[in-house]
Amino acid sequence: AKLDGRGTYRFFEPEMDARMQARRKLELDMRQALARREFQLHYQPQLQLASGTLIGCEALIRWRHPDRGLVSPLDFIPLAEEIGLIVPIGEWVVRQACRDAMTWPDPMSVAVNVSPAQFKSDRLVETIISALAGSGLPARRLEVEITEGVLLQENDRTLQTLHRLRELGVRVSMDDFGTGYSSLSYLRSFPFDKIKIDRSFVKDLTSKPDGEAIIRAIAGLGKSLGMTTVAEGVETSEQMQRIRLEGCTDVQGYLISKPVPAEDLRQVFAAFPQA
Ligand code: C2E
Ligand code: CA
Ligand code: CA
Ligand code: CA
Repeated sequence: AKLDGRGTYRFFEPEMDARMQARRKLELDMRQALARREFQLHYQPQLQLASGTLIGCEALIRWRHPDRGLVSPLDFIPLAEEIGLIVPIGEWVVRQACRDAMTWPDPMSVAVNVSPAQFKSDRLVETIISALAGSGLPARRLEVEITEGVLLQENDRTLQTLHRLRELGVRVSMDDFGTGYSSLSYLRSFPFDKIKIDRSFVKDLTSKPDGEAIIRAIAGLGKSLGMTTVAEGVETSEQMQRIRLEGCTDVQGYLISKPVPAEDLRQVFAAFPQA
């Protein structure tokens, strides 16, 4: 029995039971996935508009499930976050990403997504220090992407962690900018290196009247705060042209490349001029 929304107990309906079972199975599978090496990182490059060169890649996790095939992070990261498994998974991501980035031309960087539970665990900074040391990747080539969720319960410790990363020389990006409620106040509390403009605003560019207004405003904000601005989810050359006009510094999206396995990156790199 479970407490429902009105505060009274009721028994699970059959479909609810099935969903709980599926979730429990997913949880069990996920607990074994690390040891079985079922996770994989794909990389999506970011292009600097002014130079036309690739400046780095974002690491995006995939799960090669034995029966389900390639599982999207959207289908397992939230559960991993909920049950705390995101901490060991996130550690693996940081280490693997640093090792992979060491094989890319300097100064290309790698960006890893760090979710709220991982950010709050006291291991994050130590994990990053050890991943950098273990791989030999200089800190300036590592970037940490956090969303507003990380800053939602902003406190001294959150800010301290951000500053410790900064002192190491690791860069910090604000991901999915503009989708939360108080993005602006977050920019005031911590000097991010980069703002990633959410894909939804890029979509609006060509589909809504005044669709460029938000992008123009964020690009201007970034410029005056000394932060680079990346437009996410750029799929067409029309979008890229508009984004350039509005003043964003970088783009990421299917137009440049879909996320690809590490072994396919060399080919992607070869299609662009080197920095
Ligand atoms: P995100 O950090 O906002 O990552 C961008 C997502 O947009 C990726 O989805 C990427 O494949 C997708 N994307 C990129 N360009 C385009 C485009 O031009 N069009 C469209 N339609 N989509 C595009 P993905 O890989 O499915 O990842 C989804 C989310 O899962 C990520 O959103 C991130 O929040 C989370 N995630 C992925 N990898 C990790 C990880 O290693 N750790 C954590 N904590 N979260 C991760
Ligand atoms: Ca991201
Ligand atoms: Ca994003
Ligand atoms: Ca997102």
